[in-house]
Amino acid sequence: MTRRYSAFNLFREGLRGHTGWQPAWRSPDPKPAYDAVIIGGGGHGLATAYYLAKNHGMRNVAVIEKGWLGGGNTGRNTTTIRSNYFYPESVALYDFALKLYEGLGRELNYNIMFSQRGVVTVAHSEAEMEIAARIVNAMQINGTDAELLGPDAVFDKAPLLNRGPKARYPVFGGVWQGRAGVARHDAVAWGYARAADGFGVDIVQNCEVTGFIVENGRCAGVETSRGSIRAGAVGLAVAGHSGVLAAKAGFALPIQSYSLQAMVSEPVKPCLDTVVLYLGTGTYLFQSDKGEIVVGGGLDRVPSYAQRGNPPMQRTVLSGMLEMFPSFGQLKMLRQWAGNVDVVPDSSPIIGPSPLPGLFLNCGWGTGGFKSIPAGGWLMAHLIATGSHHEISRPFDLDRFATGRLVDEAAGSGIAH
Ligand SMILES: Cc1cc2nc3c(=O)[nH]c(=O)nc-3n(C[C@H](O)[C@H](O)[C@H](O)COP(=O)(O)OP(=O)(O)OC[C@H]3O[C@@H](n4cnc5c(N)ncnc54)[C@H](O)[C@@H]3O)c2cc1C
Repeated sequence: MTRRYSAFNLFREGLRGHTGWQPAWRSPDPKPAYDAVIIGGGGHGLATAYYLAKNHGMRNVAVIEKGWLGGGNTGRNTTTIRSNYFYPESVALYDFALKLYEGLGRELNYNIMFSQRGVVTVAHSEAEMEIAARIVNAMQINGTDAELLGPDAVFDKAPLLNRGPKARYPVFGGVWQGRAGVARHDAVAWGYARAADGFGVDIVQNCEVTGFIVENGRCAGVETSRGSIRAGAVGLAVAGHSGVLAAKAGFALPIQSYSLQAMVSEPVKPCLDTVVLYLGTGTYLFQSDKGEIVVGGGLDRVPSYAQRGNPPMQRTVLSGMLEMFPSFGQLKMLRQWAGNVDVVPDSSPIIGPSPLPGLFLNCGWGTGGFKSIPAGGWLMAHLIATGSHHEISRPFDLDRFATGRLVDEAAGSGIAH
């Protein structure tokens, strides 16, 4: 049976009618006990399991997913990957992820279609240009790539942008990060799943965690729709449902869950080869490798677990798109969907021990956790395997809400995906 993907194996399997491929991952029944159980089969949970096995030699590990792999936000997001944040702590985190993404396809032996086509965040006034310059300086000081663009350079990157005299949001320039880009979201989940399975990790789908086993004040496992599973350590990586599971574990998190929606157009000929975000409209978009225009915007604002989104926000996002690219008024929109994102007051993630010993947190990524999947998994694996923080995750501990050492990226960089 063939497991490794290569041009030679593809050719050989082609001659055999593709009958010899091994399944990408097994579907085992859950065992009664593991050294570690990770709740949530999204990118962060799967990456955690992979790095537990690869970096720390922990193979007796399970990922428990209530639906199907990547069926949460990992498979619903708009796939933008960048590290253009303001604070050193954030750049260290997201640039670590970006560096891991740069070698991930080769490492996982899975084509994640990482395309470093760059991201331009467009400024619309002198005041916004000053903020843009401040962010570029901060990014450069923090050791990541950043460039301040004037208006002509922005139009060079995206020639179809609205440059008419009646533009409501005139283009003054922007922040450019050339190493940023997009990847194939399903492939990131599937690549991690396949590689983790290769190390012996059990990936259990259609199994919902319904509660926690607590003994002597410590988390000793999980209750699931398929029975109890004991564990030496439990990791929580359930994104928009972190608050729900934290309540089952007996504590509250400073998290609100919101719907975040996106949409794609029909595929059209190549016309946009970068990712563009307008600060004025909050709309961002890029062209997928299939030719579709992928469009996203802000949160739905009413806390909710809906995965459909709502028309007022769609109207806002689409009017933003038409302001940016008037010629896209001809496009037919094909699909629209939403995911549940977990938003924290300072718009930075929570990685660290939870108030229940033995249970570790990876949550609060809000609208921006796809870009951080490799780092989130790496850091959570470090936490579970060693019981202590990696230096990159320390500032993102839950204790920052007690000490006041917030990493307020909403104020610092005006984060949007
Ligand atoms: C429309 C949209 C656009 C976005 N755009 C971007 C972007 O451009 N760039 C970016 O970086 N980020 C973006 N994001 C955010 C990003 O998708 C998320 O932050 C990220 O995917 C979170 O990954 P995760 O693995 O933590 O969660 P998820 O992928 O949501 O995985 C969590 C899993 O936990 C499972 N689960 C929940 N409860 C239980 C339970 N009780 N038992 C077992 N399993 C459970 C769920 O079924 C789910 O599969 C976007 C999100 C959305 C919705």
